[in-house]
Amino acid sequence: MSNIDSLAQAFMKFPGIGTRQAKRFVYFLLSQDPYYVDTLAREIAALKKNIVQCTGCFRFYPRLGEGTLCNVCIDDADSATLMVVEKDTDFESVRRSGSYAGRYFILGGTIPVLEKDPASKIRLHELLTRVEGGAADGLSEIILALSANPEGDFTRDYVLKALTPLATQLGITITTLGRGLSTGTELEYSDGDTLRHALKNRG
Ligand SMILES: [Zn+2]
Repeated sequence: MSNIDSLAQAFMKFPGIGTRQAKRFVYFLLSQDPYYVDTLAREIAALKKNIVQCTGCFRFYPRLGEGTLCNVCIDDADSATLMVVEKDTDFESVRRSGSYAGRYFILGGTIPVLEKDPASKIRLHELLTRVEGGAADGLSEIILALSANPEGDFTRDYVLKALTPLATQLGITITTLGRGLSTGTELEYSDGDTLRHALKNRG
């Protein structure tokens, strides 16, 4: 297999990238100057060394030292609320909006509507463990902040059902974002005002 084909195959693992786009990426790189390609290769090689996954919220963050928790899990957050979002970019949107001061949990995906093994698509087990641990730390509310589209709705219902027995037992309320988030909206594309509104109207 040529280098062109093997690199194209590597690109095809990216979300939403098919054969033709993967090939276009390879030819794009071939047309660039060597400095750009070297820098890109170095950035990729350094990524896994410098960025680690938080054992509390499961988001990726720049390694700080020996600890395994990110800055949001360690300090500056109110441990009474836990916001469950689908992915890292959703976390970034909510952070940027400045409308929420609690802690986070990154679910790691959504569940396709016809999925046969829903639990395999998200960090459900980790979430249950996190909630159990959070109870001792004063956790009183879990906010399910998922996108307002069919997969987001399906995932929210699934998580709600899976989480309710434990939450009830621990006296924790589960809320979902208000309809300020219009139908079809992905959380990561919501502006600050919309997010603030959706949070205020949660229930
Ligand atoms: Zn964290």
